[in-house]
Amino acid sequence: METYGSTVYRTHYCGELGAGDTGKEVKVAGWTETIRSHGNLIFIDLRDRSGVVQLRLDAAQSPQFMEMADAARRGWVLNAHGTVIGRPEGMINPKLATGAIEINVQDFKTLNPSEPYPFPLTAVNESDESLRLRYRYLDLRRPVLQQNIIRRHHMTQAARAFLDRAGFIEVETPFLIGTTPEGARDFLVPSRLQRGTCYALPQSPQLMKQMLMVAGFDRYYQFARCMRDEDLRADRQPEFTQIDLEMAFIGLENIMAIGEGVVAEIVKVARGIELPMPFPRLSWAEAMDRYGSDKPDLRFGLRIHSVPAELAGTLPIGRDFGVGASFRYLPVPASFGQLSRSAADRLAESAGQDTGSKVSWLKLTAEGASGPLGKNLAAPLREHMLAALDPAREDAVVFVAAGRNYVQASKCLGSLRCVIAEQCGKVDREALKFLWVTEFPLLEWDEETRNWAPAHHPFTSPLAEDLAILESAPERVRSTAYDMVLNGTELSSGSIRIHSRDIQKRVFHVLGIGDEEAQAKFGFLLEALSYGAPPMGGMAIGYDRLVMLLLGAGSLREVIAFPKTSSGKDLMFGAPSPPTRQQLADLGLKWM
Ligand code: ASP
Repeated sequence: METYGSTVYRTHYCGELGAGDTGKEVKVAGWTETIRSHGNLIFIDLRDRSGVVQLRLDAAQSPQFMEMADAARRGWVLNAHGTVIGRPEGMINPKLATGAIEINVQDFKTLNPSEPYPFPLTAVNESDESLRLRYRYLDLRRPVLQQNIIRRHHMTQAARAFLDRAGFIEVETPFLIGTTPEGARDFLVPSRLQRGTCYALPQSPQLMKQMLMVAGFDRYYQFARCMRDEDLRADRQPEFTQIDLEMAFIGLENIMAIGEGVVAEIVKVARGIELPMPFPRLSWAEAMDRYGSDKPDLRFGLRIHSVPAELAGTLPIGRDFGVGASFRYLPVPASFGQLSRSAADRLAESAGQDTGSKVSWLKLTAEGASGPLGKNLAAPLREHMLAALDPAREDAVVFVAAGRNYVQASKCLGSLRCVIAEQCGKVDREALKFLWVTEFPLLEWDEETRNWAPAHHPFTSPLAEDLAILESAPERVRSTAYDMVLNGTELSSGSIRIHSRDIQKRVFHVLGIGDEEAQAKFGFLLEALSYGAPPMGGMAIGYDRLVMLLLGAGSLREVIAFPKTSSGKDLMFGAPSPPTRQQLADLGLKWM
């Protein structure tokens, strides 16, 4: 097949050439990586996106080029024409793909010189990251970064091909729209033509994809760009990419199968392995109960247990937590890792501080119990803990957490579980432990607004069997939402959507969104739901994060071509930047 690889500047990419090309006349173009001059002989390593090839300039053969080659520096753009020859015995570089050959140059041109690099491309250290972001186009010349972006492209193509085979239609949805709540602040774009109004950039294409289902497209996907104005946090980008899916006339099973299928294709390309499917599933309640997290890391064991209510009073911690207080424990068996007294003290203290819980510990052995909670440990509680370690009944350090409520106590031990696994070296870096977490609570209580907030987004359908208690016991309503989790990271979220106008209105009411506000913000949705909206559901997979995890990259910045800093700045463009007076005047805005 014609690859369109050869151009007026090249017959081959540098890294493509090998011993099989010996004797061929070739043209290559790229960037100078190193130059070694031995008087009559100059060697240049030339790099393009495929790799490096060695150019050999011999004064005896091409005296006219020696001066030019001698002047070339790192980063200069060169074009060379010559013959592929085998390297002499002893000069072969087995570490380099093209290490058996070199190009004996007959013709040579400098296409563009370069300023000296502002930072070395080879020795990368954290301290010069802002410099590297400012000169991102140079940082992107580093082979690792270039490979990450290229591998990401191949993963994208595999996902697209899978979704196409599965009958999905790729549709681009607009950026300049109204609010699409996903729990973050909107980025606003003031309108010049409609003074005094703003567009909101999409937090996700959520409502657009629902409209596409009402329109009858049946299956939609998009590599969607989403913008969320959230508070600063390390390794979060204000704009990011999701594989956004929506399907009509489906049940949960169907969407999950598609989610697993698309991820499996991507994993195949990234890691060359077949993922076992279906992924395991846990309800939110089970995940909290066992692992104290709605995104449990299953690369290691360690389960959390509850102190039976009737024994909680025997513990000397959390006594002032009142009704609703919850007591849970995490046994760390000796076979998992040995924890010294001081290590256990430190772990308990920081776990408590981080979560507002009270945490302490004890050591259980066949002889009895020791440690801060060990002395007066009630015999039935000791039995309960030993049974939790069954059948091994081995020695263990048991962390006990008291929280103001069940979720607080559970989450406290959930985080501790991960810290301990990390400390004990039990986290298998190669493993890919996918799972689904389902049946999330529909609502979360927001202390700040003193109102119910959607745990996912306001268009998520409650479980049919919980609809009856939507108004009377909102805290107990479960949703149809499901998350895909990988190694303790939430990779995707999704849900079956509300397709009944009445139920959507009821959910808005419970969320404290009155009729007027609902009409103003989501009137078109309520209208669309009254024109034959089909049952529908979908999900969005956090693509940057997935690529990062699969490629083993250390941060999102390593898998995004033009990332922002953690404070949302683009150091190359110098964005964001103040608007000019004229721009403000055009928009009818005054800067405060
Ligand atoms: N809008 C997504 C969905 O498909 C969720 C998300 O963006 O987190 O449910």
